[in-house]
Amino acid sequence: MTQEQYLPLAGRCAIVTGAGRGIGRSIALALAEAGAAVGVTARSAEELEQLVSEIKAKGHESLAVCCDVTDPEQVRSMAQTLRAGLGGVDILVNNAGNAGSHKFVDHPDELWHRMLAINLTSVYYVCKALTPTFIEQRGGRIINIASIASRVGDRYIAAYTASKHGVLGLTRALAAELLPYNVTVNAICPGYVDTPMTDGNVRNMMTLTGKSEEQVRDFLAKTSPQKRLIAPEEVAGLAVYLAQDIAKGITGQAINLDGGGVMS
Ligand code: NDP
Repeated sequence: MTQEQYLPLAGRCAIVTGAGRGIGRSIALALAEAGAAVGVTARSAEELEQLVSEIKAKGHESLAVCCDVTDPEQVRSMAQTLRAGLGGVDILVNNAGNAGSHKFVDHPDELWHRMLAINLTSVYYVCKALTPTFIEQRGGRIINIASIASRVGDRYIAAYTASKHGVLGLTRALAAELLPYNVTVNAICPGYVDTPMTDGNVRNMMTLTGKSEEQVRDFLAKTSPQKRLIAPEEVAGLAVYLAQDIAKGITGQAINLDGGGVMS
């Protein structure tokens, strides 16, 4: 006897920003596996095309639009194209982001503005482009990929930390404002995740400290009580859960996914 597979997000349409690689790519794949049609966006066309082919090869619907999420015009056009192409939007995952570090005493203003633009203002632009749809249909899910740097301060990452703390503020304010429309807004706060962004951080730390890759990775792993990096699929699993009907009671929350480093 064959049993039909239960797909919790069947019939839903999702948009994932920064989906070309790392956490965003895992989230897009997991949403598709859960039955959603997935629109993916980032700046690099090649990575997006590869992802769309992979999703389609598994029998799911997917569509890509290139967009720099720090540009409001590009964001409006991306949102419009994906919404039309998918036939709607029920789930938005704001994942695009970048990390940069510098001592505060001679912190470059350019780095400050760049971190705020990619990690915080981009979330504002994408939410602004899609909330009218969510309000009109009286339903939706917004999931912001924040960071454990949204929860605690650390050395040399003032701009990244401020931007990610800002994402929590926006998450809570929007959750309150969209509550009457059955739209939930939540944030996921991961610790170090094993992605290309972390590979870049590892290379920087090797240059700065003269340590080997193994030593740097070991150092990062030990920042977690579980002594390991988080896998992108773990973040994806939580995003898929928050996107489902069963999670309708969870809104305005920031969920730590850091191996127990911060318990709040
Ligand atoms: P990666 O650098 O591995 O991937 C980032 C993705 O975002 C890429 O697809 C990139 O594509 C896209 N992106 C970057 N800038 C822009 C832009 N201006 N416009 C559109 N897309 C953009 O990052 P991760 O997967 O590691 O991180 C994803 C999110 O998770 C980020 O918000 C990050 O802050 C957060 N996070 C990551 C942690 C980690 O340890 N890795 C820990 C906690 C949070 P392209 O360059 O082609 O545009």
